Amino acid sequence: MTDFTQTRPLFDLPEGVIYLDGNSLGPLPKSAAARVARTIQDEWGQMLITAWNRAGWMDLPSRLGDRIARLVGAEAGSVVLGDTLSIKVYQALASAIEMNLGRKVILSDSGNFPSDLYMAQGLCKTLGDGYTLKVVAPEEVLGAIDESVAVTMITEVDYRTGRRHDMKAITDRAHAAGALAVWDLAHSAGAFPVELAACGADFACGCTYKYLNSGPGGPAFIYVAPRHQNRARPALSGWLGHEAPFAFDPDYRPGRGVERMRVGTPPILQMAALDAAMEIWDRVDMNALRATSLALTDRFIAGVEAACPDLTLATPRDHTSRGSQASFRHPEGYAIMQALIAEGVVGDFRAPDILRFGFTPLYTSVQDVDGAVAILARIMAELRWDRPEFKARQKVT
Ligand SMILES: *Cc1c(COP(=O)(O)O)cnc(C)c1O
Repeated sequence: MTDFTQTRPLFDLPEGVIYLDGNSLGPLPKSAAARVARTIQDEWGQMLITAWNRAGWMDLPSRLGDRIARLVGAEAGSVVLGDTLSIKVYQALASAIEMNLGRKVILSDSGNFPSDLYMAQGLCKTLGDGYTLKVVAPEEVLGAIDESVAVTMITEVDYRTGRRHDMKAITDRAHAAGALAVWDLAHSAGAFPVELAACGADFACGCTYKYLNSGPGGPAFIYVAPRHQNRARPALSGWLGHEAPFAFDPDYRPGRGVERMRVGTPPILQMAALDAAMEIWDRVDMNALRATSLALTDRFIAGVEAACPDLTLATPRDHTSRGSQASFRHPEGYAIMQALIAEGVVGDFRAPDILRFGFTPLYTSVQDVDGAVAILARIMAELRWDRPEFKARQKVT
């Protein structure tokens, strides 16, 4: 499906709002409310515990994984859902590091999302024995991959700037140096076509509540390359990753394939919402999505640069070096974003000075882009952001 005027009506977007924050929390697919209600009433309500079998709850994490696999260029049977992204990062990293004994360095970059860095720091501390996280500037990643590196842990698209790493180049360099490559697809899955298998990625993970629209707290996914699946030891060895969970064996034996990365009871209601969202994704041509996303982003960047000389573009102009967002810097970025939100244009702010706008062709139109540019231009020209109520920081920015 390449006609995105047909996907927009599938989302419940509030009247008068231009939503440019689907890269942070995707909007509600109209079918999700009914789908979740059905799961609650017909499955939980009527089937009670038998729904684990009768409604197929137990297989949802792999069924949804196979549908996400198409979007990220993964082999069937190599993606499974569960937990949050931070936990999936930890799992991928712990398994990868154990597959490369003798090396002690996890390599990441300063554009990575802090939670990924924190998880790596926590893992190093738990392992002790000289394990360290090395963080370099995003432009220095390729050059920093040497024989000391056990694993690269890179988020493909920088959450602040939208800068995109070259997955193939970094993965190839990692392999040539004897390292494994772990990729975080938080700002990639559903943003553009990803080619995990073609790039030779070892592990990957990502979330579903951003571009994929599964709702707040939606489960994350993890990818393990087929060649590693029966070798990767799950560090979080929960009962649902066991080979036979219902044998209730006191000793852990990892399950077959990527299923071993499951930990505990899956969040069924949240997965029902994701299931509804995936009905839309199943029909989306990712190349058409990318072309439209670049056209929208180019149009927004050109419009803002022409109308708002005080804002500095933080996102690379080169199409191959960016994801599906456009970011601008301004020292008063927080207040400007609050003023924008007050006028119905929703993006977000990322410290210290980034105004971030996500472009999601499924429901963002050219009219939205032009409307957002016009409102931003007025806010900047008339200093409408310069009011105390826009400067008071809220808990979530
Ligand atoms: C959004 C995001 C997270 C969030 O992790 P959760 O555990 O889902 O809260 C982690 N890493 C990256 C790169 C992100 O963009």
